[in-house]
Amino acid sequence: MPNPRLTILVVEDEAAIAETMVYALQTEGFAPLWKTTGRDALAALAAQPVALIVLDVGLPDMSGFDVCREIRRRGTTPVIFLTARSSEVDKIVGLELGADDYLAKPFSPRELTARVRAVLRRSNGASHGGKAPAAGWQHDEARCRISFCGNALDLTRNEYRLLGALLASPGRVFSRDQLMTAAWDDPGAALDRTVDAHVKTLRAKLRAVAPEEDPIETHRGLGYSLRET
Ligand code: CA
Repeated sequence: MPNPRLTILVVEDEAAIAETMVYALQTEGFAPLWKTTGRDALAALAAQPVALIVLDVGLPDMSGFDVCREIRRRGTTPVIFLTARSSEVDKIVGLELGADDYLAKPFSPRELTARVRAVLRRSNGASHGGKAPAAGWQHDEARCRISFCGNALDLTRNEYRLLGALLASPGRVFSRDQLMTAAWDDPGAALDRTVDAHVKTLRAKLRAVAPEEDPIETHRGLGYSLRET
């Protein structure tokens, strides 16, 4: 067997949703492991290696948020949340639980497996000591200069630092807080909107040199990432 099947822990109390996910993951070559409570999920995680956890927010015994906190205390296994309400998305972001992505119900099996693959790709890259720089980019750190598609960008200091942070980990989703910490000397004084405003001006400058590309991706409710290829 060329690749051992990766175990994906599915934590969801609604059988119909869980069965759809288990089937989709199996079809895609993963080894899904289904648990219906937070307690059973944590026990399974302690008992065997798990590549990724798909975690429902609303569980019968404890909230998915508490389960995620416990997962983070134990390690860095990637977590994709399943949410039923937009208020839950706000919480995932606001509480900074260390989730890697989320899916809003209802979602298609195809969406699920695409997200699972994307998160696994990102976390693999991270555990192998970073990635090759994304195509089209050059970062001359000594000169504090970033070029895109062969054009040096004329950036303000905050734009430079913000883009530098994204560029250091292509594909990684940064929360607004993380970008603020990376790019501002006094992050407490900046507002979330400040990050959005800088991303907007950055996009305009990137569009000016490469109208087709749009390499900064928005992850609604989570933050921003730089496209990997
Ligand atoms: Ca549920």
